[in-house]
Amino acid sequence: MSVRVRFAPSNTGYLHLGGARTALFNYLFARHHDGDFLLRVEDTDQERSQEKYTDAILDAHEWLGMEPDEDVVFQSDRMDLYREKAEDLIESGDAYRDYSTEEEIEEARKEAFASGDKTAHTRLWRDRDDEPEDRDSVVRIKAPLEGSLTVEDHVQGEVTVDAEELDDFVILRSDGTPTYNFCVVVDDADMDITHVIRGKDHLNNTFRQLYVYDALGYEPPEFGHLPLISGLSKRKGSRSVQEYREDGYIREGLVNYLARLGWAHGDQELFSRDELVELFGLDGVNASSGEFDEDKLQWFNAEWLKKLEADELAERWATYLHKRDFEVELDERLVDITEVMRARGQTLGEMTEESDYFFKDEIERNEDDVEEWLTPDILEMFEELIEVLADLDDWDRGDIDTTIRDLCDRHGEGLGAIAQPVRVATTGGTSSPGLFETLAMLGRPRALNRLNEGLEIIRSRTE
Ligand code: GLU
Repeated sequence: MSVRVRFAPSNTGYLHLGGARTALFNYLFARHHDGDFLLRVEDTDQERSQEKYTDAILDAHEWLGMEPDEDVVFQSDRMDLYREKAEDLIESGDAYRDYSTEEEIEEARKEAFASGDKTAHTRLWRDRDDEPEDRDSVVRIKAPLEGSLTVEDHVQGEVTVDAEELDDFVILRSDGTPTYNFCVVVDDADMDITHVIRGKDHLNNTFRQLYVYDALGYEPPEFGHLPLISGLSKRKGSRSVQEYREDGYIREGLVNYLARLGWAHGDQELFSRDELVELFGLDGVNASSGEFDEDKLQWFNAEWLKKLEADELAERWATYLHKRDFEVELDERLVDITEVMRARGQTLGEMTEESDYFFKDEIERNEDDVEEWLTPDILEMFEELIEVLADLDDWDRGDIDTTIRDLCDRHGEGLGAIAQPVRVATTGGTSSPGLFETLAMLGRPRALNRLNEGLEIIRSRTE
C-alpha cells in the first residue's frame, strides 16, 4: 500500500513556523516513501475562516516547494458527507441524539466531577430513546465504557488512555455542523491517509478519533505525533512563513532549519532537499520538544546563501529587490554583486541593506564618516583620482586597482589614504566590499558621479 499523508491546516491564520514544520515532515515522509502529500484546508469555522489565509497557506507551500500531489480538499465542500456519516452512526447505534439542555449538562458535570466520573455528563441520553420535539439535539458518539485505548505512535511510542477518560463527544452540533474530531476521521479515511503526522498537541484527540474509526468500520492509519516547538511565542516565533520570506529568508535555509527542529541524522546540520528526502524518517524525530532559535535560523539561511549557485541566488535576489522597488537588471553585474554580498548578510534583506548603494541613484552619506574622511587635505589626490579614473579605457576591477595604486605611489601615500574617502563618497559609509571591486560593480557613471559629489563636499570644506 502506498503512503499517503496530509497536512490539514485550518484557514484561520497564516502559516506559521510550527505548521510549516508539520507540513514539511509530511512532505518529506511522502517523498521518501514515493507516496502522496495532500493538503486539506479545515475551513469549517465560519466566523474565523478567511480566504486570504487559504491563499497565504497555498502560496507558502508553493514557495517552500511543497505543493500537494492532488487537488486541495476543503472541508466546507464536504458537509453533506459528514452529516451522512453521522446518520449512519445513529443508524448503527454507535451514535445517538442528545436532547439535554445546557443547564442539565452543567448540573450533571458538577455531579460527575464530585463523584469522580469525569465523563458521565456527556452520556445523559446514551440509553434513552425518547425524542422530545420541542428541544434541539446534538449527535454524540458512544465512547468505550471500559478497558483502554492504545496508540503505537511512531514518535511518542506506546501511549495508552483509560476508557474512563473518554467522553461521548459531540460529532454534530445542534445546527448540523460537524466537529473537528469527527470530520478529521471521515476525511482521513475518505482520502486513504495511511499516516497521520501532526503536532503532539493532537495526541488527546487521537484517542477520540480511534473510536470514530472503529464506529465507522475503518482501519485507523498509523500515527506520528511531533514534538512541540518551544519558544514560538506570540512575540517572536509566531511570525508567518510569508514574513520570513519578506525578510529575505530563502526556502533552502528555512526548510533546512525546520527539518532540524525535532529531526536529526547524526550530527549533520546542512541538508539539501534531496538529502532530506533520502534520509527523513519518523525514527529520526525526537519525542521531546525542540526550541526555536532565531539565531540558528539565520545561520542556516546564511549557509544556504553561500551554497546556492550565484546565478540562481542573483535571480532570487532580483525578485526580492523588485518587490522592494529597486530597479535592477538581472545581469552579470548583479551576479557579481551577489557573489560579494552573499557573505555579508544572513538574509536577502541584510544583503540589500548592506548594498543598496549599488541600486539607488541617490545615496545618503553618513555625516560622521563625511566629517572624518572627506577632508581638505586629500583634495588634490581626490581631484587627480577622478581624472585618472575618467580616463580609463575599461572600467574593470584590475585597471581600477592599478590606476589607484599608481596614484597613491605618486603621492607617496599608502592605499589607506584614499580608500575610506572613496568609500564614503561612493557608498555613503565606510563598510563596503573591497574598494576596487566596489567601484567596478558600481559602474563608471555612478562611481564617477559620486566621486564628483564627494569632491564637492571636500571643496566646500576648504572654504
Ligand atoms: N486543523 C487541525 C490543526 O490545524 C489539523 C490537525 C490534524 O492534523 O488532524 O491543528
